[in-house]
Amino acid sequence: MRVGEEVKLIIITRRDIAQGEEITVSYGDEGYWARQNEKGLWCGCGASECKWSEEAVRARAGEAASVNGQGEEGRETEEGSMG
Ligand SMILES: [Zn+2]
Repeated sequence: MRVGEEVKLIIITRRDIAQGEEITVSYGDEGYWARQNEKGLWCGCGASECKWSEEAVRARAGEAASVNGQGEEGRETEEGSMG
């Protein structure tokens, strides 16, 4: 957030953070990366659980991320219907 001439950021955590511990911040599911992905830009953080890498986004869209004809190993989606 901007306060006067200064840009300030406040992060409130759900648990204590150790000194030197790496933290990450999600920009939100319908926020920054969703719009960037539409432009063909992907998150490059490298985290295996990242939802906004090109591979993760294409997997959610049902596109094969593989170039060798072998699909992604062991990745399945299970969507149970409620009610
Ligand atoms: Zn990422």
